[in-house]
Amino acid sequence: MNQNKKKTLIGVICVFSALLATVLLLTFVGPYAVLALSRQEKPAAEYAYSESFCTDYEQTRTQLAKRVQALRQAGVTVETSEHAIDAEDGLYIDKVYLPATEQSTNLIVLTTGVHGMEGYIGAVMLEVFFEEIYPTLDTADTGILIVANVNPYGMKYLRRYNENNVDLNRNFIEDWENFDLSCNKEYPKVDKFLQPKGKIGNAFWHEVGFYASLAKEAVFSGADTISDALLTGQYEYAEGVYYGGTEDQASTKYLKGVFAEALDGAYENIVHVDIHSGYGPRYNMVIFNSVQDPTTEEQTKAELGYDYVIATDSEAFYETFGDTTDYFYRLAKSKNTDKSLYSTCFEFGTIGDGFFDSILSLKYTVDENRLHQYGSKNDVAAEMVMENYKELYYPTEKEWREKTVADFKDAMTGVLNAKLK
Ligand SMILES: [Zn+2]
Repeated sequence: MNQNKKKTLIGVICVFSALLATVLLLTFVGPYAVLALSRQEKPAAEYAYSESFCTDYEQTRTQLAKRVQALRQAGVTVETSEHAIDAEDGLYIDKVYLPATEQSTNLIVLTTGVHGMEGYIGAVMLEVFFEEIYPTLDTADTGILIVANVNPYGMKYLRRYNENNVDLNRNFIEDWENFDLSCNKEYPKVDKFLQPKGKIGNAFWHEVGFYASLAKEAVFSGADTISDALLTGQYEYAEGVYYGGTEDQASTKYLKGVFAEALDGAYENIVHVDIHSGYGPRYNMVIFNSVQDPTTEEQTKAELGYDYVIATDSEAFYETFGDTTDYFYRLAKSKNTDKSLYSTCFEFGTIGDGFFDSILSLKYTVDENRLHQYGSKNDVAAEMVMENYKELYYPTEKEWREKTVADFKDAMTGVLNAKLK
């Protein structure tokens, strides 16, 4: 070997060693760096309603039970019932009803936890409702009906979906017999990306892999195809994301019954708010109109005196199948009732609504489902996925939490001023 060849060989060995060292470093140290970046901050000690931000499902039930007890002690009539979804596992939907004391004019209906994990912010808002809104109401002609933890499985196990991997807000289909289960034409085009198979491996290389396949998918299928495939809901991939099921889930049957009862009952005016989190701008709760509500964005803003509204004419509006509020309207129509109904969704934004925020939301959604379906080869990756998922539905940041309380008060006041008779 001549001198030049020797030098080249040494050079190649050096470069190769450096590469190998980098790969090893990224493989063994990278996961911890990624986890550190994902870790939610520790909630601050004190802020508005800090005590009401629960950390487990049982705690939210205890909180509601205490509230009922306090109301009763104050002389208020409260009827309660629990509906078992899985009694052995302690999974119940809680119904709390405060009848109007004199005349059945208005019924306020609040539902929480249709999307499991989103029930945590829902539980806080029930406290805010009873502390700040309830005392301002004329209970002589206004009744209140709370249906809490509609998806108790998702609350207990920190998932958006229920015990059958079903997204309940895609499950409120009027007539399954005549419903086209293959209505989502986009999902099959990107199913491999949205539900990758196999255990999650090394956290660092998992991150790299995700962005590489996203880039590939965005080029071949288009970013719009991915978001259309996701948000509308799908009915063919039982292990996939945003799966709407093929029949009514136990929670759905129950809530459909509650809606029917309200429409058949004595109250002439029903105002329903379904509480969600995860979509929209980070520090602004958005009132998301039902597709059944023809009011425009500008009209809704003016009527409710609230600035953050997504209506059917908004750019950010998207239509879904099997939505809870849409179902409520359709049921009212099918009953040919002369009651008035307003049914809407309060959506607390978490990650944000920018381009990169949407990618992160998508990533957290895909990762969590993969972890649930296939597990993880190591604890670091599993922990990273769950930290991100919590951030997607229930951020710990003080500023975010305080703003949720302020927005709920504003929006609820606006809705009730406009809609109660
Ligand atoms: Zn939701």
